[in-house]
Amino acid sequence: MSKIHQNSEKTDEYLKRYMEGVLKRNPGEPEFVQAVYEVASSIFPYIADKPIYHELQILERMAEPERVISFRIPWTDDAGNIRTNRGWRVQFNSAIGPYKGGIRFHPSVNQSILKFLGFEQTFKNSLTGLPMGGGKGGANFNPKGKSDNEVMRFCQSFMTELYRHIGADTDVPAGDIGVGGREIGFMFGQYKRITNEFVGVLTGKGLEYGGSKMRTEATGYGAVFFLRNMLMQHKDSVEGKRILISGSGNVATYAAEKCLHLGASPITMSDSSGFIHCREGFTQEQVDWIKALKGARRGRISEVADEFDNISFHEGRPWGVKADCAVPSATQNEINGEEAATMIKNGVMAVAEAANMPCEQDAVDAFMNAGLLFGPAKAVNAGGVGVSGLEMSQNSARIAWDEDHLRKLLEDMMRDIHDSCVQYGETEGTVNYLKGSNIAGFVKVADAMLSYGHV
Ligand code: NDP
Repeated sequence: MSKIHQNSEKTDEYLKRYMEGVLKRNPGEPEFVQAVYEVASSIFPYIADKPIYHELQILERMAEPERVISFRIPWTDDAGNIRTNRGWRVQFNSAIGPYKGGIRFHPSVNQSILKFLGFEQTFKNSLTGLPMGGGKGGANFNPKGKSDNEVMRFCQSFMTELYRHIGADTDVPAGDIGVGGREIGFMFGQYKRITNEFVGVLTGKGLEYGGSKMRTEATGYGAVFFLRNMLMQHKDSVEGKRILISGSGNVATYAAEKCLHLGASPITMSDSSGFIHCREGFTQEQVDWIKALKGARRGRISEVADEFDNISFHEGRPWGVKADCAVPSATQNEINGEEAATMIKNGVMAVAEAANMPCEQDAVDAFMNAGLLFGPAKAVNAGGVGVSGLEMSQNSARIAWDEDHLRKLLEDMMRDIHDSCVQYGETEGTVNYLKGSNIAGFVKVADAMLSYGHV
């Protein structure tokens, strides 16, 4: 048996044993286990000849959050009823900076989902090159159908507990699914009222009170920059490509907008009730209409098809529509193996994960085996937290950079992240972005942990 073969068998055995431990320590947390497996399967081969990481149990420590806080959120609805939700903050890893990561309000939120997101966030934040650790939080609260006053009372109650665990140099939350500008405003107002401090403790703030230009656009724009970089690396271009987008929230709408800026055609968008399709590609006017529908009016995506003759509404997900590229931008596990096979058959050449873990493991395997360009979430959607990091810098320095400067910083950051993936993921002219992003994100955090000794 060759030495390389023996080594890879040994690596597989280590990975298997490691994952058995992760599974045992985290019962009932499938999303978290899935996320750890995805990272560990890239890292084990990389550290096979680097015993220090094994001896100091770096991967074991990395898969254990530094702290998980769970708390009660009582609030009163408009009818005077007392309601109770559960909130969490997962402070995953602070090796390279204060915990940083969004807050999600959605009925599906649980500890497994927040641990998966906090774990992923650690590597993503490292990839940005900025000094930010990883964290995530949220509540199993459904903002749909609630009045502005109900959302305000909920946010205030959430912050009444959360404030004692966060701080500009400790943990700096941001938005995520169900948490946009309105919710950040309510939470920041409550933090300021309780602590009597005006500090950069949340990002995604309004421009009037310390927010950064380009933060709203950053995740969607950044995702399409990354897609463009992948295509350019492989001597192609995004211009003229038909792009499948899912979701119709912050990330999806700005991804669609950046496609238009770069001469590509976004042809689908969706929400949890179905998807819309426009054969010739949405126009800017239509994208603006969708932003207003989902952002301000909080309506359903089917209403777009009622408004515009060239747009049709369909139940289900958009992955059966013929296109060149896909930018899934809604939520986790929204593309399964079967849908991935259909996309491959239909000629999709590149997938850029703008949502967090939108592809099930079967789908990732199918894309990788088919040799598609596959951009993983932690690299593709890092522009959001990247500009959040720049918001923190501006808040600390009490300055505000202009839009052109921030747009350039975002574009440069996405190019640097892409190049780091190439550095660690390229073999013989093809780039394995999954491997590249995992290793590039891992190295900085792991080496910082090594410096601290056994903590
Ligand atoms: P929004 O709340 O603005 O939008 C979410 C969109 O996804 C909505 O269209 C929503 O539809 C849809 N959606 C949510 N859950 C489901 C579901 N179970 N099935 C189908 N559709 C669903 O969130 P964002 O745009 O901010 O976030 C989207 C993704 O991007 C998430 O994975 C998030 O973690 C990730 N992300 C976001 C960042 C940001 O800066 N905002 C940064 C990095 C990652 P409906 O209206 O019906 O609920």
